[in-house]
Formats: sequence, C-alpha cells, structure tokens
Amino acid sequence: MGGLLMSKVVVIGGGWAGCAAAISARKLGAEVKLLERTDMLLGTGLVGGIMRNNGRFTATEEMIAMGATELFEVCDLNSLHTDIEFFGHKHASFYNVSVVEGKVRSLLHKMGIKTIFNMRGKAVTKRGNKIISVSLDDGTEINGDTYVDATGTAGPMNNCKTLGNGCVMCIYRCPTFGGRISISEKAGVSEYFTQREDGTNGAFSGSCKIVKESLAVDIQEKLEQAGLCIIPVTPELQKENVLSMKACQQYARKEYQENIVLINCGHAKMMSPYYPLSVLRMVPGFESARYADPLAGGVGNSIRLSQIAEIEPTMLAKGVENLFCAGEKAGPFVGHTEAIVTGTLAGFNGVKLSEKEKLLTFPTSLAVGEGISYTLNEGKSEGKKCTFSGSSLFENLQEKNLYTTEKDKIVQRVKKEKLDNVFNHKIMMT
Ligand SMILES: Cc1cc2nc3c(=O)[nH]c(=O)nc-3n(C[C@H](O)[C@H](O)[C@H](O)COP(=O)(O)OP(=O)(O)OC[C@H]3O[C@@H](n4cnc5c(N)ncnc54)[C@H](O)[C@@H]3O)c2cc1C
Repeated sequence: MGGLLMSKVVVIGGGWAGCAAAISARKLGAEVKLLERTDMLLGTGLVGGIMRNNGRFTATEEMIAMGATELFEVCDLNSLHTDIEFFGHKHASFYNVSVVEGKVRSLLHKMGIKTIFNMRGKAVTKRGNKIISVSLDDGTEINGDTYVDATGTAGPMNNCKTLGNGCVMCIYRCPTFGGRISISEKAGVSEYFTQREDGTNGAFSGSCKIVKESLAVDIQEKLEQAGLCIIPVTPELQKENVLSMKACQQYARKEYQENIVLINCGHAKMMSPYYPLSVLRMVPGFESARYADPLAGGVGNSIRLSQIAEIEPTMLAKGVENLFCAGEKAGPFVGHTEAIVTGTLAGFNGVKLSEKEKLLTFPTSLAVGEGISYTLNEGKSEGKKCTFSGSSLFENLQEKNLYTTEKDKIVQRVKKEKLDNVFNHKIMMT
C-alpha cells in the first residue's frame, strides 16, 4: 500500500466489471465510490448466471490463485447447479440470479465501498488529458485520482430501436432509469462497435428468461433436479439465421436452433434465440409460457457491444491519462467472468497509477492474459465477440495449451509468473 493519503478511485457502472474494479481498488487501500444508474448492482449479470463453463473455469482459477477470490466465491456459494455439461459446454455452474445481487451488495458494503444508486455519471471535466471530475444526473460533481468506466454496452433505447427490434423491456430498465451513458465517450476516447454478419452494428443479447412456473410440471421438475432440460423443436418451428446475430457466439451452434435448451438459474434460462410467444407456445410443455426477461422477449432482446472504448492491455483508455475501462466497455469481452477479470485489473491499476507504480499487464502465459490480448487484437480487428467459454477465443486457448481444469497446474502457472496473491490484500470488514 502507498503513502498515508488514500488514492481515490471512482468507478462508473455497477455491473460485474464495476464491482470487481471497486473490490480490487479497495483491497489496495483506496477510497472507492461506485456509481450505478439503477437501483441494483450487476447490470446484465442480473439475468445471466452461467459460470465456469469451458475456459472460464481456467480463468476463474487463475484469478483465485492471484487472490481475486471474492466475487467468484459469491457465485460459487450461490450456484444452484454445478458441473453441468450441455452442447459445447463442460463443467458449468449456474448462479441463482434471484439472490446474487443482494449478496454482492452486502459484500461491497462490508468492504467499505461507497455505492451511489439511481444516479448516472453524465459528463466529465478534464484538465488537459486528465479527468478531474465526473458530474452526475443531479449535478453533483465527484472527484477521484483515477476513474474506471464500467458502463457496459447494453442499450440505450435508441440503439435497441435503430439496431434492434425496439425496447423489449429488459433488465436494463432504460425507461425507468435513463439509458447507459458512456464516460469514455464524454472523455473523448475513441470508440468502436462490433458488427453482425449483415454489417449492422452491435449484437442481440441471445438468451431469454422464462417464468419457470409457466412451463409444464415435468419440465419444471427436470430443471430443478438436473439443472438442464433439452426439448427438441420440429423443423417448422425452428428459427433460422438468428444465431450469428447473438452477442454470445458460444451458443451459435445448430443444436441451439434444433432444440430449446433450458437451464435453471432461478428463472428458466432459454439458451435458444428469442421465439415469438405464439410460436413458443406451440412447443409441447410451453403452452402457457411467459417471458420473465425481457418482458417482451418474443420480440427480441437488448442490443449490446456498441461503444467499446480503445484501451491498452493494462485497461487504460487510450488518450486519457487517468481513465481505465473494464468489462464490455473495454472490448468485445462477453461474460460475467470476463467482466470480473478485466474489472479486477482495471481497479488494481487505477490505484497503481495514482501511487505512481508500474501498471500490471497479465502475461500471455496465463489464460486471462491471452484472453485480453486476443480480444484487444483479433477480437477488435475482426469484429469477433470474445469469451473464455467458446468461439474463437476458447479455440485459441486450447491450441496454446492454456485451457485446463487442473487446479494445481493453474496455481503453478500463476506462481511461475510471480503473480500468486497479487490481488490478495486484506482489509478491515465493517
Ligand atoms: C440476457 C443475457 C444473458 C447473459 N447470460 C450470461 C451468462 O449466463 N453467463 C455469462 O458469463 N455472461 C452472460 N451474459 C453476458 C454478461 O452479462 C455480460 O457480458 C457482463 O455481465 C457484462 O458486465 P459489465 O459490467 O461489463 O456490463 P453491464 O452488465 O452492462 O453493467 C454496466 C452497468 O453500468 C451501469 N451504467 C451504465 N451507464 C452508466 C452511467 N453513465 N453511470 C452509472 N452507471 C451506469 C448500468 O446500469 C449497469 O449496471 C448475458 C447477457 C445478457 C444480456
């Protein structure tokens, strides 16, 4: 830890990336303020839930070996099912989306992280290339030494209208809390979009949540017991040509078109692309099905992966001296694990920068380092959506022998890079 004066870190956006950034900065002794535009933390993580599948297992264990344990522990402790295998995915666990936010909120509170809800970062004041304050919806100004933009890429409503099928009332709740505002853009950082195969900007969020109780009893029972239920769909009801539109390319496989794959994350998470309600209700067992998220899930889902900031592998935004980015804001990184990995690094480096110490870059001998490097290079230049759990990044990790589930091997790998416990700084819990 540095001198007597605490570093001040302001994190904008309370999704998994922002929570991870706040925790790693706080563990280095910083005074941390976390701004969140809605009344809940976790952003799109309020409806996801899949962890530890494929290369996410390796990334998770590397982070744990480095001492970034807290958020992974919350997910593990609140998992409804573990070690699940389904099309293209191994050893997945599903956290319960209904309880996890409360657990994370109480953890942040105990760690002494100041959270400010119902408030967006709206504009920045700069001196030269440095941000000196962020102003909020109500005009209040917040000052920090360093800032982390973890505002994600979902919405706002105008993107869903122009690039998607309109507002479908998703968990992002733009009509209530106002749309996402990019702090990087306000600070003058250059931004880019991913593109779909037809050249349209952004990607559709791919999965929807169904109210479990609206499904046939045998489906409900299977979900509760096994965590998973696969229902074949007749060819005439299958949705074609929608798989490449999705943000989560690990599910762009024909099995997700030929079947309805449901998993139990609290709600029944439907891994297949959205179905019009009238079509969905023709599938046996779905006669009374209702969408829980988005509420109009039969029409579409949120648009994501727009306004991604140009950053360095340390997570520092290009062109601004004291702004870091994390999660989807920092690259086409899709997933909770990816958000926690990049958020942890951003918060850590935020403190290192204000203490004038060397910034950390994960080496490419680790899955997390290769993941960041791949995403910022190939992911960005080829418009790929990147995740440790599938698609081209996971193939790349396998080719480089970086994917493993052997925990001892992972610990040794981290030790070899002298990064064991690098994030493990104890703080007083209230
Ligand atoms: C339907 C769906 C299902 C998914 N399922 C999974 C899954 O099972 N497993 C998985 O790993 N990933 C899943 N994902 C992807 C995953 O949720 C995201 O990639 C990841 O959680 C992104 O985290 P983030 O913190 O970068 O962004 P977000 O989750 O988007 O969080 C950004 C936060 O910033 C806030 N914000 C925005 N602008 C401002 C501002 N100006 N001021 C203050 N706050 C602001 C937002 O309100 C939000 O809370 C899913 C995504 C969706 C949409």
